[in-house]
Amino acid sequence: MQIDQTRLTEFATRIFVSAGSREAFASRVAEHLVAANLKGHDSHGVGMIPAYVANIGAGHLKVDAEARVIEDRGAVLLVDGQFGFGQVVGAQATAMAIDRARETGVVCMGVRNCHHLGRIGSYGEQCGQAGMVSVHFVNVVGHGPLVSPFAGRERRMSTNPFCCVVPRGEEPPIVLDMATSAIAQGKVRVAYLKGEAVPEGSLIDHQGLPTTDPGVMFQEPFGSLGPFGAHKGYGLAVMCELLGGALAGQWTAQPARPRESTIVNHMLMIVLDPAAFGGVAGFQAEVSAMVDYLHSTTPAQDADRVRLPGEPEREALARRAAEGIPIDDNSWAGIVKAAGSAGLTTAEIEDLTGWISPDA
Ligand code: NAD
Repeated sequence: MQIDQTRLTEFATRIFVSAGSREAFASRVAEHLVAANLKGHDSHGVGMIPAYVANIGAGHLKVDAEARVIEDRGAVLLVDGQFGFGQVVGAQATAMAIDRARETGVVCMGVRNCHHLGRIGSYGEQCGQAGMVSVHFVNVVGHGPLVSPFAGRERRMSTNPFCCVVPRGEEPPIVLDMATSAIAQGKVRVAYLKGEAVPEGSLIDHQGLPTTDPGVMFQEPFGSLGPFGAHKGYGLAVMCELLGGALAGQWTAQPARPRESTIVNHMLMIVLDPAAFGGVAGFQAEVSAMVDYLHSTTPAQDADRVRLPGEPEREALARRAAEGIPIDDNSWAGIVKAAGSAGLTTAEIEDLTGWISPDA
Protein backbone atom coordinates (compact mmCIF):
# COMPACT_ATOMS: atom_id res chain seq x y z
CA MET A 1 0.00 0.00 0.00
CA GLN A 2 1.04 3.63 -0.55
CA ILE A 3 0.40 5.89 2.42
CA ASP A 4 0.17 9.65 2.52
CA GLN A 5 2.87 11.22 4.73
CA THR A 6 0.53 13.54 6.67
CA ARG A 7 -1.86 10.78 7.68
CA LEU A 8 0.98 8.42 8.51
CA THR A 9 2.58 11.08 10.73
CA GLU A 10 -0.73 11.63 12.51
CA PHE A 11 -1.20 7.89 13.12
CA ALA A 12 2.36 7.52 14.43
CA THR A 13 1.93 10.57 16.68
CA ARG A 14 -1.28 9.18 18.18
CA ILE A 15 0.43 5.84 18.87
CA PHE A 16 3.24 7.51 20.83
CA VAL A 17 0.83 9.79 22.71
CA SER A 18 -1.25 6.76 23.62
CA ALA A 19 1.94 5.04 24.84
CA GLY A 20 2.47 7.93 27.27
CA SER A 21 4.47 10.51 25.35
CA ARG A 22 3.72 14.22 25.42
CA GLU A 23 2.33 15.53 22.13
CA ALA A 24 5.42 17.56 21.14
CA PHE A 25 7.81 14.63 21.57
CA ALA A 26 5.41 12.18 19.92
CA SER A 27 5.09 14.37 16.83
CA ARG A 28 8.87 14.94 16.65
CA VAL A 29 9.49 11.17 16.67
CA ALA A 30 6.69 10.56 14.17
CA GLU A 31 8.05 13.25 11.83
CA HIS A 32 11.58 11.82 12.02
CA LEU A 33 10.37 8.29 11.23
CA VAL A 34 8.15 9.41 8.35
CA ALA A 35 11.01 11.58 7.00
CA ALA A 36 13.22 8.46 6.98
CA ASN A 37 10.56 6.65 4.91
CA LEU A 38 10.26 9.65 2.61
CA LYS A 39 14.04 9.64 2.08
CA GLY A 40 13.92 5.97 1.09
CA HIS A 41 15.14 4.48 4.37
CA ASP A 42 12.20 2.28 5.34
CA SER A 43 14.62 0.49 7.67
CA HIS A 44 14.55 3.58 9.93
CA GLY A 45 10.98 4.67 9.36
CA VAL A 46 7.61 3.79 10.83
CA GLY A 47 8.55 0.11 10.79
CA MET A 48 10.43 0.88 14.03
CA ILE A 49 7.17 1.73 15.84
CA PRO A 50 6.58 -1.81 17.20
CA ALA A 51 10.09 -1.86 18.71
CA TYR A 52 9.64 1.60 20.25
CA VAL A 53 6.24 0.70 21.76
CA ALA A 54 7.69 -2.54 23.15
CA ASN A 55 10.64 -0.66 24.66
CA ILE A 56 8.32 1.91 26.27
CA GLY A 57 6.31 -0.95 27.77
CA ALA A 58 9.46 -2.65 29.05
CA GLY A 59 10.69 0.58 30.65
CA HIS A 60 13.74 0.81 28.37
CA LEU A 61 12.54 3.95 26.57
CA LYS A 62 11.70 6.92 28.83
CA VAL A 63 9.17 9.00 26.94
CA ASP A 64 9.69 12.20 28.95
CA ALA A 65 13.49 12.21 29.14
CA GLU A 66 15.43 15.17 27.77
CA ALA A 67 19.09 15.72 26.93
CA ARG A 68 21.05 16.72 30.06
CA VAL A 69 24.53 18.28 30.01
CA ILE A 70 26.74 16.36 32.45
CA GLU A 71 30.13 17.91 31.53
CA ASP A 72 30.75 21.30 29.99
CA ARG A 73 34.32 22.26 29.14
CA GLY A 74 33.52 24.82 26.49
CA ALA A 75 34.32 23.15 23.21
CA VAL A 76 33.92 19.70 24.78
CA LEU A 77 30.51 18.68 26.04
CA LEU A 78 29.10 15.46 27.40
CA VAL A 79 25.34 15.01 27.21
CA ASP A 80 23.21 12.22 28.67
CA GLY A 81 20.12 11.27 26.67
CA GLN A 82 18.72 9.49 29.76
CA PHE A 83 17.24 6.78 27.49
CA GLY A 84 14.74 9.23 26.01
CA PHE A 85 13.51 9.10 22.43
CA GLY A 86 16.72 9.42 20.38
CA GLN A 87 14.86 11.69 17.98
CA VAL A 88 14.16 14.11 20.86
CA VAL A 89 17.38 13.99 22.87
CA GLY A 90 19.56 13.70 19.75
CA ALA A 91 18.02 16.82 18.22
CA GLN A 92 18.28 18.70 21.54
CA ALA A 93 21.96 17.76 21.91
CA THR A 94 22.68 18.71 18.29
CA ALA A 95 21.05 22.12 18.79
CA MET A 96 23.31 22.67 21.83
CA ALA A 97 26.40 21.67 19.84
CA ILE A 98 25.50 24.06 17.00
CA ASP A 99 24.97 26.97 19.40
CA ARG A 100 28.28 26.31 21.12
CA ALA A 101 30.17 25.88 17.84
CA ARG A 102 29.11 29.40 16.84
CA GLU A 103 31.14 30.62 19.87
CA THR A 104 34.05 28.19 19.88
CA GLY A 105 34.41 27.31 16.18
CA VAL A 106 34.52 23.61 17.00
CA VAL A 107 32.60 21.39 19.40
CA CYS A 108 33.25 17.78 20.27
CA MET A 109 30.20 16.37 22.01
CA GLY A 110 29.58 12.95 23.48
CA VAL A 111 25.91 12.02 23.50
CA ARG A 112 25.33 8.92 25.55
CA ASN A 113 22.36 6.75 26.53
CA CYS A 114 19.95 7.61 23.74
CA HIS A 115 17.19 5.23 22.81
CA HIS A 116 17.51 4.55 19.04
CA LEU A 117 18.59 7.77 17.30
CA GLY A 118 17.01 6.61 14.04
CA ARG A 119 18.46 8.09 10.87
CA ILE A 120 21.74 9.72 11.92
CA GLY A 121 21.63 11.91 8.81
CA SER A 122 18.84 13.94 10.41
CA TYR A 123 21.31 15.29 13.04
CA GLY A 124 23.86 15.92 10.30
CA GLU A 125 21.22 17.77 8.29
CA GLN A 126 20.38 19.84 11.38
CA CYS A 127 24.06 20.90 11.47
CA GLY A 128 24.29 21.40 7.71
CA GLN A 129 21.17 23.55 7.64
CA ALA A 130 22.77 25.72 10.36
CA GLY A 131 25.86 26.14 8.13
CA MET A 132 28.00 23.70 10.14
CA VAL A 133 30.16 20.77 9.09
CA SER A 134 29.54 17.69 11.25
CA VAL A 135 30.98 14.22 11.81
CA HIS A 136 29.15 11.50 13.74
CA PHE A 137 30.53 8.21 15.06
CA VAL A 138 27.77 6.05 16.54
CA ASN A 139 27.63 2.62 18.16
CA VAL A 140 24.57 0.49 18.80
CA VAL A 141 24.11 -1.51 22.01
CA GLY A 142 21.35 -2.69 24.34
CA HIS A 143 20.89 -5.91 22.39
CA GLY A 144 23.15 -8.70 21.21
CA PRO A 145 25.63 -7.91 18.42
CA LEU A 146 24.70 -8.46 14.76
CA VAL A 147 27.83 -7.87 12.69
CA SER A 148 30.88 -10.10 12.38
CA PRO A 149 34.35 -8.55 12.19
CA PHE A 150 36.23 -8.83 8.88
CA ALA A 151 37.58 -12.41 8.65
CA GLY A 152 35.34 -13.56 11.53
CA ARG A 153 32.12 -15.58 11.57
CA GLU A 154 30.61 -14.60 14.94
CA ARG A 155 28.75 -11.42 15.81
CA ARG A 156 30.77 -8.87 17.75
CA MET A 157 29.34 -5.41 16.95
CA SER A 158 26.20 -3.86 15.58
CA THR A 159 25.58 -1.77 12.47
CA ASN A 160 27.48 1.27 13.86
CA PRO A 161 26.49 4.19 11.62
CA PHE A 162 28.89 6.90 10.45
CA CYS A 163 27.77 10.27 9.12
CA CYS A 164 29.56 13.34 7.76
CA VAL A 165 27.84 16.47 6.47
CA VAL A 166 29.10 19.50 4.54
CA PRO A 167 26.84 22.58 4.23
CA ARG A 168 26.28 24.26 0.89
CA GLY A 169 24.76 27.65 1.72
CA GLU A 170 21.33 27.86 0.11
CA GLU A 171 21.78 24.44 -1.52
CA PRO A 172 20.95 21.25 0.45
CA PRO A 173 23.97 19.94 2.43
CA ILE A 174 26.09 17.00 1.25
CA VAL A 175 25.08 14.12 3.56
CA LEU A 176 27.08 10.92 3.83
CA ASP A 177 25.05 8.76 6.23
CA MET A 178 25.52 5.02 6.37
CA ALA A 179 25.59 1.85 8.39
CA THR A 180 29.08 0.32 8.53
CA SER A 181 27.55 -3.12 8.00
CA ALA A 182 27.17 -4.25 4.39
CA ILE A 183 23.49 -3.25 4.70
CA ALA A 184 21.51 -1.80 7.62
CA GLN A 185 19.87 -4.39 9.92
CA GLY A 186 16.55 -2.62 9.33
CA LYS A 187 16.91 -3.38 5.62
CA VAL A 188 17.37 -7.06 6.49
CA ARG A 189 14.18 -6.79 8.58
CA VAL A 190 12.27 -5.16 5.72
CA ALA A 191 13.48 -7.88 3.29
CA TYR A 192 12.52 -10.60 5.80
CA LEU A 193 9.02 -9.17 6.24
CA LYS A 194 8.60 -8.88 2.47
CA GLY A 195 9.94 -12.42 1.89
CA GLU A 196 12.75 -11.08 -0.31
CA ALA A 197 16.45 -11.95 -0.58
CA VAL A 198 19.11 -9.44 0.50
CA PRO A 199 21.94 -8.42 -1.87
CA GLU A 200 24.85 -10.84 -2.20
CA GLY A 201 27.77 -10.09 0.06
CA SER A 202 25.59 -8.77 2.92
CA LEU A 203 25.15 -11.82 5.17
CA ILE A 204 26.91 -14.97 6.27
CA ASP A 205 25.25 -18.01 7.83
CA HIS A 206 26.29 -19.67 11.11
CA GLN A 207 29.09 -21.50 9.29
CA GLY A 208 30.48 -18.30 7.88
CA LEU A 209 29.19 -19.06 4.37
CA PRO A 210 27.69 -16.29 2.22
CA THR A 211 23.87 -16.24 2.03
CA THR A 212 21.12 -13.95 0.72
CA ASP A 213 18.48 -15.34 3.14
CA PRO A 214 17.50 -12.62 5.69
CA GLY A 215 16.05 -15.40 7.87
CA VAL A 216 19.55 -16.13 9.25
CA MET A 217 19.27 -12.91 11.27
CA PHE A 218 15.93 -13.90 12.84
CA GLN A 219 15.94 -17.71 13.16
CA GLU A 220 18.42 -20.10 14.76
CA PRO A 221 21.10 -21.08 13.90
CA PHE A 222 21.94 -17.40 13.58
CA GLY A 223 24.24 -15.96 10.97
CA SER A 224 25.51 -12.40 10.88
CA LEU A 225 25.84 -9.27 8.83
CA GLY A 226 29.27 -8.55 7.41
CA PRO A 227 30.98 -5.14 7.37
CA PHE A 228 30.79 -3.02 4.19
CA GLY A 229 34.02 -2.69 2.21
CA ALA A 230 35.85 -5.67 3.74
CA HIS A 231 38.65 -4.66 6.16
CA LYS A 232 38.15 -0.90 5.56
CA GLY A 233 34.47 -0.85 6.51
CA TYR A 234 35.29 -3.08 9.44
CA GLY A 235 37.96 -0.60 10.54
CA LEU A 236 35.47 2.28 10.42
CA ALA A 237 32.95 0.19 12.39
CA VAL A 238 35.60 -0.40 15.08
CA MET A 239 36.20 3.36 15.32
CA CYS A 240 32.44 4.00 15.66
CA GLU A 241 32.38 1.40 18.45
CA LEU A 242 35.35 2.93 20.26
CA LEU A 243 34.62 6.65 19.74
CA GLY A 244 30.83 6.48 19.98
CA GLY A 245 30.74 3.62 22.48
CA ALA A 246 33.86 3.63 24.66
CA LEU A 247 34.61 7.39 24.60
CA ALA A 248 31.18 9.06 24.42
CA GLY A 249 29.07 6.33 25.97
CA GLN A 250 31.52 4.24 28.01
CA TRP A 251 29.40 1.33 26.81
CA THR A 252 30.47 -0.93 23.95
CA ALA A 253 29.10 -4.20 22.60
CA GLN A 254 31.44 -6.29 24.78
CA PRO A 255 29.54 -8.97 26.71
CA ALA A 256 29.83 -7.49 30.23
CA ARG A 257 27.48 -4.69 29.17
CA PRO A 258 23.65 -5.03 29.31
CA ARG A 259 21.79 -6.75 26.47
CA GLU A 260 18.12 -6.29 27.31
CA SER A 261 16.45 -6.35 23.90
CA THR A 262 16.41 -2.59 23.64
CA ILE A 263 18.27 -0.25 21.24
CA VAL A 264 20.72 2.24 22.71
CA ASN A 265 22.89 4.58 20.64
CA HIS A 266 25.96 6.48 21.83
CA MET A 267 27.30 9.17 19.51
CA LEU A 268 30.50 11.17 19.30
CA MET A 269 29.67 14.28 17.29
CA ILE A 270 32.15 16.86 16.03
CA VAL A 271 30.65 20.14 14.83
CA LEU A 272 32.83 22.64 12.94
CA ASP A 273 31.96 26.21 12.00
CA PRO A 274 33.48 26.92 8.54
CA ALA A 275 33.81 30.57 9.61
CA ALA A 276 36.64 29.44 11.90
CA PHE A 277 38.52 27.77 9.03
CA GLY A 278 39.46 30.60 6.70
CA GLY A 279 35.96 31.90 6.12
CA VAL A 280 32.68 30.65 4.73
CA ALA A 281 32.88 32.24 1.26
CA GLY A 282 36.14 30.57 0.22
CA PHE A 283 35.03 27.22 1.62
CA GLN A 284 31.67 27.33 -0.14
CA ALA A 285 33.23 28.42 -3.44
CA GLU A 286 35.68 25.52 -3.34
CA VAL A 287 32.95 23.04 -2.33
CA SER A 288 30.76 24.23 -5.24
CA ALA A 289 33.60 23.95 -7.75
CA MET A 290 34.39 20.42 -6.58
CA VAL A 291 30.72 19.42 -6.63
CA ASP A 292 30.46 20.67 -10.24
CA TYR A 293 33.60 18.75 -11.13
CA LEU A 294 32.20 15.52 -9.64
CA HIS A 295 28.84 16.04 -11.36
CA SER A 296 30.60 16.56 -14.69
CA THR A 297 31.95 12.98 -14.66
CA THR A 298 30.82 10.90 -17.62
CA PRO A 299 28.53 8.18 -16.23
CA ALA A 300 29.77 4.60 -16.17
CA GLN A 301 28.03 2.11 -18.40
CA ASP A 302 24.49 1.42 -17.06
CA ALA A 303 24.62 4.48 -14.76
CA ASP A 304 22.46 7.54 -15.47
CA ARG A 305 24.66 10.12 -13.74
CA VAL A 306 27.11 10.75 -10.90
CA ARG A 307 25.51 11.78 -7.62
CA LEU A 308 26.81 13.15 -4.35
CA PRO A 309 26.01 11.55 -1.01
CA GLY A 310 22.55 12.72 0.06
CA GLU A 311 21.19 13.07 -3.47
CA PRO A 312 19.48 9.64 -3.58
CA GLU A 313 17.59 10.61 -0.41
CA ARG A 314 16.42 13.90 -1.93
CA GLU A 315 15.26 12.10 -5.07
CA ALA A 316 13.34 9.57 -2.95
CA LEU A 317 11.81 12.43 -0.96
CA ALA A 318 10.53 14.14 -4.12
CA ARG A 319 9.08 10.87 -5.42
CA ARG A 320 7.49 9.64 -2.20
CA ALA A 321 6.10 13.02 -1.18
CA ALA A 322 4.17 12.95 -4.46
CA GLU A 323 3.27 9.25 -4.66
CA GLY A 324 2.98 8.24 -1.00
CA ILE A 325 5.11 5.94 1.16
CA PRO A 326 5.06 2.24 0.24
CA ILE A 327 4.52 -0.03 3.25
CA ASP A 328 4.38 -3.81 3.00
CA ASP A 329 1.53 -5.75 4.62
CA ASN A 330 3.63 -7.39 7.35
CA SER A 331 5.16 -4.09 8.45
CA TRP A 332 1.71 -2.46 8.45
CA ALA A 333 0.24 -5.33 10.50
CA GLY A 334 3.05 -4.85 13.03
CA ILE A 335 2.36 -1.11 13.30
CA VAL A 336 -1.40 -1.63 13.76
CA LYS A 337 -0.71 -4.27 16.43
CA ALA A 338 1.67 -1.85 18.18
CA ALA A 339 -1.06 0.81 18.10
CA GLY A 340 -3.25 -1.60 20.09
CA SER A 341 -0.43 -2.37 22.53
CA ALA A 342 0.08 1.38 22.99
CA GLY A 343 -3.53 1.64 24.17
CA LEU A 344 -5.47 2.84 21.14
CA THR A 345 -8.88 1.15 20.87
CA THR A 346 -9.96 -0.73 17.76
CA ALA A 347 -12.39 2.10 17.00
CA GLU A 348 -9.62 4.69 17.34
CA ILE A 349 -7.31 2.68 15.11
CA GLU A 350 -10.05 2.33 12.50
CA ASP A 351 -10.71 6.03 12.73
CA LEU A 352 -7.02 6.78 12.20
CA THR A 353 -6.47 4.23 9.42
CA GLY A 354 -9.90 3.93 7.79
CA TRP A 355 -8.66 6.03 4.88
CA ILE A 356 -6.48 3.14 3.74
CA SER A 357 -8.33 0.97 1.29
CA PRO A 358 -7.51 -2.74 1.78
CA ASP A 359 -6.26 -3.14 -1.79
CA ALA A 360 -4.42 0.20 -1.93
P1 NAD B 1 22.69 3.62 2.07
O1 NAD B 1 23.62 2.50 1.76
O2 NAD B 1 21.38 3.63 1.40
O3 NAD B 1 23.41 5.00 1.75
C1 NAD B 1 24.65 5.32 2.32
C2 NAD B 1 25.15 6.65 1.79
O4 NAD B 1 25.49 6.52 0.43
C3 NAD B 1 24.13 7.78 1.86
O5 NAD B 1 24.76 8.95 2.28
C4 NAD B 1 23.64 7.94 0.43
O6 NAD B 1 23.25 9.27 0.11
C5 NAD B 1 24.87 7.55 -0.33
N1 NAD B 1 24.57 7.01 -1.64
C6 NAD B 1 23.73 6.00 -1.94
N2 NAD B 1 23.70 5.78 -3.25
C7 NAD B 1 24.54 6.69 -3.82
C8 NAD B 1 24.94 6.99 -5.15
N3 NAD B 1 24.46 6.31 -6.19
N4 NAD B 1 25.80 8.00 -5.35
C9 NAD B 1 26.28 8.71 -4.32
N5 NAD B 1 25.95 8.48 -3.03
C10 NAD B 1 25.09 7.47 -2.79
O7 NAD B 1 22.48 3.74 3.66
P2 NAD B 1 22.55 2.59 4.78
O8 NAD B 1 23.95 2.23 5.04
O9 NAD B 1 21.59 1.52 4.42
O10 NAD B 1 22.00 3.36 6.06
C11 NAD B 1 20.62 3.67 6.15
C12 NAD B 1 20.31 4.48 7.34
O11 NAD B 1 20.42 3.66 8.50
C13 NAD B 1 21.19 5.69 7.62
O12 NAD B 1 20.33 6.82 7.72
C14 NAD B 1 21.84 5.41 8.97
O13 NAD B 1 22.01 6.54 9.80
C15 NAD B 1 20.82 4.48 9.57
N6 NAD B 1 21.38 3.64 10.65
C16 NAD B 1 21.06 3.95 11.93
C17 NAD B 1 21.51 3.14 12.95
C18 NAD B 1 21.17 3.44 14.39
O14 NAD B 1 21.51 2.65 15.25
N7 NAD B 1 20.52 4.54 14.69
C19 NAD B 1 22.30 2.02 12.67
C20 NAD B 1 22.63 1.76 11.35
C21 NAD B 1 22.16 2.57 10.32
